[in-house]
Amino acid sequence: MSQPATKPRKAVDEETSTGWDNTPHPPVKHCAAKVDERYMHGRPEHELVPSRYVHRVGKIDVMVVSDGVLSLPGAMLGHNVDPAVRAAWLEDQFLSPDVLEWALNAVVVRSGDQTILIDAGIGGEFPDLPRAGQWAQRLAAAGIDPASVTDVVLTHLHMDHVGGLLVDGVKEQLRPDLRIHLAAAEAEFWESPDFSRVSMPPGFPDALRRTGKRFLKEYHGLLRTFENEHEVAPGVMVQRTGGHTPGHSVVRLASGGDRMTFAGDAVFQVGFEHPDWFNGFEHDPQEAARVRVSLLRELAANRESLVATHLSFPSVCHVAVEGDAFRWVPGPWEY
Ligand SMILES: [Zn+2]
Repeated sequence: MSQPATKPRKAVDEETSTGWDNTPHPPVKHCAAKVDERYMHGRPEHELVPSRYVHRVGKIDVMVVSDGVLSLPGAMLGHNVDPAVRAAWLEDQFLSPDVLEWALNAVVVRSGDQTILIDAGIGGEFPDLPRAGQWAQRLAAAGIDPASVTDVVLTHLHMDHVGGLLVDGVKEQLRPDLRIHLAAAEAEFWESPDFSRVSMPPGFPDALRRTGKRFLKEYHGLLRTFENEHEVAPGVMVQRTGGHTPGHSVVRLASGGDRMTFAGDAVFQVGFEHPDWFNGFEHDPQEAARVRVSLLRELAANRESLVATHLSFPSVCHVAVEGDAFRWVPGPWEY
């Protein structure tokens, strides 16, 4: 104990002033000292694992940040499937037949002098999902200052992707010249959203309508809408796919011969083996399945990495073709 007090501070400076990596960081409590109590949701300050993972795509830094876990009914993963077939798949995966524990991943990207947030977790709008909503304090623990963020890309306006931006005190910390990139079709959809083909648990459609509208109201001044695709930063391209929602988009990263795609909600865990199973949150399930198959085919053919919102954290993986479906190939843990 010859160097008290100064040593942890030096470690924090190193963390924020050099490139991101997966080496150990100071305790969360130290880094998160400035985090507003309202973000904590009654959780302990200490976390046993940092819940973030760093990957590099050429010159682009990528950090996957877990917002936590969503506990949802098992039927969500395929509402067009015989319940016995669905139960057999879950058993085969060593998963509970009743409650699906969904990962909820958001991403931070640095390219050139831009810091870009891709999606924002669920926030605190839905009190029945207490294990999620940790995005803001985990960004703080990772040394990401909200005032340093230049751009936000939203894959779509479901609350598990934008809710973090609606938490009290978050907007005030963001820059007034922040650019929020969103497909024009998505902004338009939430003016009068169609829920006729979804199969969601009770309470969800109302909560999604409410948060979608609230987001558009609170952030309309910062929105930069695009039609089909937009280059957010060097090597960072957002592309509209539609399907899950009409303006659902994916983010393609490319630098120095490396490629990675953040697929948002185009791909779920079951979607590799059963890409034709309809997820309960898909507003146009047929189109969502078509988008999924075409994206998975492309990723298998060009061998690039995939990260997706609801694939098990940190979700960095590859896609292989297997018969007339696909196979999930988890990436090696680089620590
Ligand atoms: Zn989602």
